[in-house]
Amino acid sequence: MIHHSSCPVCSSYDLKPGLICTDHFRSREQFPLYTCSVCGFTFTQDHPEENAIGAYYESDDYISHSDTSEGLVNKIYKIVRSRMLRKKRDIVIKMTDLERGNLLDIGSGTGHFIDGMNKAGWSVKGIEINEKTRITSSEKFGLEIIPPEKISSLESGSFDCITLWHVLEHFSDLNFYVAQIQRLLKPAGTCIIAVPNINSFDSLHYGQFWAAYDVPRHLWHFNPDTFGFLFEGRGFRIVNVRTLPLDVFYISILSERYKGNKMAFFTGIIKGSYFAFRVLFNKRKCSSLIYTLKK
Ligand SMILES: [Zn+2]
Repeated sequence: MIHHSSCPVCSSYDLKPGLICTDHFRSREQFPLYTCSVCGFTFTQDHPEENAIGAYYESDDYISHSDTSEGLVNKIYKIVRSRMLRKKRDIVIKMTDLERGNLLDIGSGTGHFIDGMNKAGWSVKGIEINEKTRITSSEKFGLEIIPPEKISSLESGSFDCITLWHVLEHFSDLNFYVAQIQRLLKPAGTCIIAVPNINSFDSLHYGQFWAAYDVPRHLWHFNPDTFGFLFEGRGFRIVNVRTLPLDVFYISILSERYKGNKMAFFTGIIKGSYFAFRVLFNKRKCSSLIYTLKK
């Protein structure tokens, strides 16, 4: 178990307990969230050590690592994913202002995104922690996907773009990865990071049942202010923030299910629509945000 006695972002010892969240996905164990009184950063307290966390991912339901198409939620996820793949590719091209370049995708999962980028003419590499997923995706697409411990061996200043789609919140060594991204990017390089937003309408509505808390797999819980504080204090500029409008439906359905709602799908769609509508007028309250960073 890892206990944080100081803030992982600003090192303050002034930490306050907040919500207590349940691991609805796997273990049913409870984990407290703590917030730093100085910088406002929120994190999962007393979470499993890195060598023990793997057990908390062990289920075919964990969609980012699985390719099964059973279950209504998973089917919808896949439809959304194919739309998202195109959107992600468009964001990379727009934010880098490059038609082609070198891309590193940290947390490449099933490999569909880097495969799409490769087919669009980009030179791609992936990093994936799950050995089975890494080997399967690497063989399926014929791409180079390495384990996280090899990130240090990648050449400095060698990437035009580094992407992290909903993975930063999983990394126990947050500061190490921020430093590695800084090291690996070319001087004019672009980093694109998508993370859940704890200040979102859906997060505020669902509280401890909000599915994107996803304890203990999610260790860090960002909002636009704390995300900015973390990266701007470590040599980055945030040049763009955009919304991921479809995530809210999936998150709302799961959150309703965690609350025990037997009509979780329908309620989730209705509430998700309401949250998505409100986001049109306040994008900083979107369920997930995509930040574009430059050095
Ligand atoms: Zn802090």
